[in-house]
Amino acid sequence: MLTFTITTSRATEVLDLTDQVQAALAELGATAGAALISVAHCTCALYLNENESGLREDTLTALSFMGRLQHWRHDVIDDNASAHLAATLLGSSVLVPVRGGRLQLGTWQRVLLAELDGPRPRQVTVAVLAEA
Ligand code: ZN
Repeated sequence: MLTFTITTSRATEVLDLTDQVQAALAELGATAGAALISVAHCTCALYLNENESGLREDTLTALSFMGRLQHWRHDVIDDNASAHLAATLLGSSVLVPVRGGRLQLGTWQRVLLAELDGPRPRQVTVAVLAEA
């Protein structure tokens, strides 16, 4: 298992972690099985999709409806309920098959981190579930 830090630079943004995850697999000596990629945070998320600038912005716009719906109860604590809710919708981990040391992603698939309440440092953990 390996953990690395990504420091985000905006309140909301989407970052492509695929190369860092692939490097982590190499460092871990992973060959075949699956990679569990996870963030230990409540207001950022991981997902698989295309890294296209318009789609990255569309994803953040689609998730931003959470902040326009109503005044959420959690907002009285630290005014970021919409970030928590958007992170819940996307999820905090992805599981990707690994073969020959490589993530088995589709042609356009990338491992993406959605920052929903930044900027701040984010811990990303890669754990390998090896084939027997
Ligand atoms: Zn909060």
